[in-house]
Amino acid sequence: DAVIVWLRRDLRLADNPALFHAAATGAPVLPVYIHAPEEEGDWTTGAAGRWWLHHSLGALAGALQECGSGLILRSGESLEALLALARGSGARAVYWNRALEPALGVRDSRVRHALQGEGIEVREYPADRLFAPDAVRTRAGAPFRVFTPFWKAALTSGPDLEPLPAPPILPPLPGNPATLPLEALALRPATAWDSGLRAAWRPGEAGARTCLGETLAEVAPAYARLRDRPDRNGTSRLSPHLHFGEVSPRQVAAGLEALRAEAPAAAPGAQALLRQLGWREFALHLLHHFPETGDSPLDRRYDRFPWRETGPALDAWQRGRTGFPLVDAGMRELWTSGWMHNRVRMVAASLLTKNLRIHWLEGARWFWDTLVDADLANNTLGWQWTAGCGADAAPFFRVINPVRQSERFDPEGAYIRHWVPELAALPNRWLHAPWTAPGAVLREHGVVIGRDYPAPIVDLRASREEALAAWRATVQNA
Ligand code: FAD
Repeated sequence: DAVIVWLRRDLRLADNPALFHAAATGAPVLPVYIHAPEEEGDWTTGAAGRWWLHHSLGALAGALQECGSGLILRSGESLEALLALARGSGARAVYWNRALEPALGVRDSRVRHALQGEGIEVREYPADRLFAPDAVRTRAGAPFRVFTPFWKAALTSGPDLEPLPAPPILPPLPGNPATLPLEALALRPATAWDSGLRAAWRPGEAGARTCLGETLAEVAPAYARLRDRPDRNGTSRLSPHLHFGEVSPRQVAAGLEALRAEAPAAAPGAQALLRQLGWREFALHLLHHFPETGDSPLDRRYDRFPWRETGPALDAWQRGRTGFPLVDAGMRELWTSGWMHNRVRMVAASLLTKNLRIHWLEGARWFWDTLVDADLANNTLGWQWTAGCGADAAPFFRVINPVRQSERFDPEGAYIRHWVPELAALPNRWLHAPWTAPGAVLREHGVVIGRDYPAPIVDLRASREEALAAWRATVQNA
């Protein structure tokens, strides 16, 4: 009897337990992807994510064909689609890798029960995480809320780092199962706003493999030194590949472990990068144990925080016109390429939630639609961490200063000059806070504040004091 492999956010052939075990049965295999956005809860894939998904599915279909198989595309209700495929093909088993997000987990258990009720065997394999959701607990058996002890406990529990190989060959698709053309899923934008994405990324497993290879060869050795520098290629850019499961965290961790063993000089970088993967694990841990945090703060005292009404300030932030060059560079990098450097994400998020006092969910939603790596666990953690209302968050009173951060992490201004070309001619000394430059300097370099580049939309010092007063009055004294 044929086996259906239900692919979801595991769009790869290598280290794919469901596909590996289905192929190992020797039976015909039916790999299927079902487009069912209404099953994703409140956070259906945003525009940049859909663009990625379109190309990733195309790449996966090609890779499956090269192995002698193919990808069946369906849309509609997942259960209905699986039952129809089972009926049409005579398959008596469905294999999948577990979902990472709560809404999808609930959907999966409903589908599992219904399939089993029809006499169809279901096999679920561990999800794309290094540690099972209940494997890491405090001594008292509770979930962790602080990263460092979480990570220490996780590492002592010993992750399994042996990735599975790709099935070298797959049996041809049995029968001639109906499949939708990729275009029918309407994932790709109708208008051509994706040229920046196309230039920056190569979705799919082969692209992910190249990215991991470059990470191990070039990024990891210097990661500890360069990871906070948006002006350097200091981070892996694996995030969208990891989100869509084109590479598994196990493959990344195994690569880092091998690098550490082979090249002692690269060990600190490899370890620092593994620790960042640990933050991904921590984000998944939190979302698993506190599934409501996708929409509400883990620290419920923040329910009372007086967020401001949104308005022109939100618009200026989204369009990269706040008057703070590092933030504007980041917001434009995001809009154009679908990605933003982590350090700049923190600075941009702090400006929005603290100086502008706009609700973190407004920022989270904008990131959701524009990031190619938009991921419910990581995005929620990042926003709540910056806003001060999450687990192990930065204390609210530590308001990030975008000018200091700019001077420190983009010292020569290369990042700002790239994304904010209207300031490119300004000398370094004035680049990070151009409104403070003497009139003669601005004139000499052809920059008029308010015409060529906006004046700051908020006074950093006054807005910081106001935010702290609001915080003291509501959260601190709650
Ligand atoms: P690297 O530095 O090379 O790290 C390797 C991998 O580790 C990343 O791909 C990612 O999977 C994981 N990782 C690294 N840093 C973090 C972190 N702080 N939290 C969780 N996982 C991490 N990351 C997303 O993947 N999706 C999001 O939607 C997202 N939203 C964010 C929102 C805000 C406000 C902030 C401050 C951070 C957010 N992050 C998000 C985390 C982080 O910025 C990105 O994971 C990172 O910039 C991706 O680039 P990279 O792959 O080069 O990272």
